[in-house]
Amino acid sequence: MKKLIFFIAFILFTSLCIFSVQAQNSIGSDLIVSIEATHEYYGIGTILLTPRGTEVIAIEISENDWTDTEISNQKEAAESSYSGVTVIRDASKKYNCHFYAWAEEYPRSFYWLNASEINNYIDDGSYIELSSSTSLIEGDIILYVDDNQIKHSAVFKEYNGGTYIVTSKWDDGPVCEHPRESCRYATSTVSYKYYRLHTHTCTYLFVYVSETQHQLQCTCGNTASGMLSHNFTYTYTDTTHTASCSQNCGYVGTAEGHTFVVEEYSDNNHVLVCSTCGYTVVEAHDLDYTNESTHHSIECTVCDYTSAAVHAILYAKVNVNYHNKYCGNCTYSVAEAHTWTQSGALYSCGYCGQVSSFIPVVPASLSAGVLSQLMAVPAAEGEITVAFVDGVQYAMLDGQIYLVVECE
Ligand SMILES: [Zn+2]
Ligand SMILES: [Zn+2]
Ligand SMILES: [Zn+2]
Ligand SMILES: [Zn+2]
Ligand SMILES: [Zn+2]
Ligand SMILES: [Zn+2]
Repeated sequence: MKKLIFFIAFILFTSLCIFSVQAQNSIGSDLIVSIEATHEYYGIGTILLTPRGTEVIAIEISENDWTDTEISNQKEAAESSYSGVTVIRDASKKYNCHFYAWAEEYPRSFYWLNASEINNYIDDGSYIELSSSTSLIEGDIILYVDDNQIKHSAVFKEYNGGTYIVTSKWDDGPVCEHPRESCRYATSTVSYKYYRLHTHTCTYLFVYVSETQHQLQCTCGNTASGMLSHNFTYTYTDTTHTASCSQNCGYVGTAEGHTFVVEEYSDNNHVLVCSTCGYTVVEAHDLDYTNESTHHSIECTVCDYTSAAVHAILYAKVNVNYHNKYCGNCTYSVAEAHTWTQSGALYSCGYCGQVSSFIPVVPASLSAGVLSQLMAVPAAEGEITVAFVDGVQYAMLDGQIYLVVECE
């Protein structure tokens, strides 16, 4: 008796739904269900349990149910009221939309369920709210909410041609299959919330959220963490790395160039490490030479390696007068006269190996400027190289230098 009085008071103060329930004056143990202030049904408070065992107050209606004629009239009225409506179960005064959607899986009988009871199904985890309607499955509940008040409960059936098809009980009328918007609860200001029966023990896995974050989520939508940063791991080629998440959230990035920094170097090599992925490469220095007459100084264009070394002098034949003295490592290069040594009938240059049957004579008066111009573009055998210096023209043919004089 005490308990029931509590039920009555509780329901009085928590009634949000269009179905309000009030204490009945003369019979303390009965309840009245008022439907839009036009119908009133007597009922007796009873306790149901959510799937997870939370107590819910429901009302067992004492009233006689509709007659066959009334049921038939209600079917006709419902099916002609909005497009796409099909009555799938007879009208009944014994239960309402909320009971049909939230509690009917566990009935001992049919009851009215006040909207204010619905939070019991959500707060104890029996149902979980879905963040969107994109992955609704048959049996999920759609709640019609207007101005923070629960107006109606429906059960999702299928998504058909851009329309959510639901089944729901219309007050004390029939259970209808209808497009979500084809009913009087779908007012212009209504919004929808989505819920799913939550029967499993959640298993949490990392799920991709964005380029930088993932979250521990169960397939039901429950979460066990806030947004967390990915644990990046990398695969790489010689030139690129590609990030993915080591916690298998599904994140895979695009290939990006390494961000190399010099880790160390020796006389021959430097070691580059990608500061992002750790990829390491050992490379020969990329040497840049600065020339002096006897030494070259060397810098690596990549690392800080520097060195100075005596030129590695080599000689190359140019023509019968000159060879090219150059460095095998740097760009040092000068023209130099052969140094002849007689060997039998021939003379040969001990540096470049040029051989000649005579020692060519370079005019003693030839200036260094003329010589360098003539040497600048050594002609092939049989061709003439020409230099024009201070009004005087010189020519070189097969190493012999000639003064060019105009004939009268
Ligand atoms: Zn879960
Ligand atoms: Zn991740
Ligand atoms: Zn890298
Ligand atoms: Zn280097
Ligand atoms: Zn050199
Ligand atoms: Zn030579």
